[in-house]
Amino acid sequence: MKNKIINNKIVVANWKMRLSLKESLILAKKMKNKFKNFKSGEVVICPNFLSLCHTKNIMENSSINLGSQNVFWEEKGSYTGEVSPGMLVEAGCEYAIIGHSERRKYILENYEMIHQKLKAVLNNGKLVPIVCIGENTEERKTDQRDFILTDQLYQALSGINIVGEQQIIIAYEPIWAIGSGITIEPAEAKYAHKIIKLTLNDIFGMQVVKDNFRIIYGGSINSRNVKGFVNIEDIDGLLVGGASLDEDEFYKVAKAILK
Ligand code: PEP
Repeated sequence: MKNKIINNKIVVANWKMRLSLKESLILAKKMKNKFKNFKSGEVVICPNFLSLCHTKNIMENSSINLGSQNVFWEEKGSYTGEVSPGMLVEAGCEYAIIGHSERRKYILENYEMIHQKLKAVLNNGKLVPIVCIGENTEERKTDQRDFILTDQLYQALSGINIVGEQQIIIAYEPIWAIGSGITIEPAEAKYAHKIIKLTLNDIFGMQVVKDNFRIIYGGSINSRNVKGFVNIEDIDGLLVGGASLDEDEFYKVAKAILK
């Protein structure tokens, strides 16, 4: 893992299963070109598994880093269809998204699995985990958000030992805002990030949280609404889905939050 500066803001593109291999490589080339003089913060692209190695080759001599959309909790063995932390590192990844809400919904991934995945990534030591949490519509309507966030953090992180400069990124992604075009009010995001920060402080202590954690926001961010999320305390970056599928749009989002 590169020795990153934890104070750097970060923007992560989640391409989901939206692009074929061919389309991923075309977009990767466009991104490389678009970001060629971009030096601020960190930019990470998470293509599908099939496109990782090819995207890595394209990103040679570029400041754009590579991440995976998922990872398994064992390094090797009879786990058909899974990909381990070591394999992702071999493919050139430096980041791994864990527990995205679409996996929680469609693959029934739960926080016990998310915890196992996080442990495997930390044991590997060469990937930065991006752990997703967030409440759904019903939980928000019934005022359970704070409890849900705290509970998800405890389930994912309890008993985790953070050594040295290991980084962990927590992505607050309210499920109702993902891919819906509904944007959270920046003040609400700020409040949720504060809850997350305080919970992390409870689990790990303030110094570890300051040195090892970043908290990023995700949910229908685009070039029109990103301004509201600039310079908000405790928002260390963004996870971007739909708006990361166009290089001009993603560049505007990255520029707004990272400069
Ligand atoms: C996501 O999938 O992590 C995400 C934030 O998607 P979108 O930006 O499309 O809501």
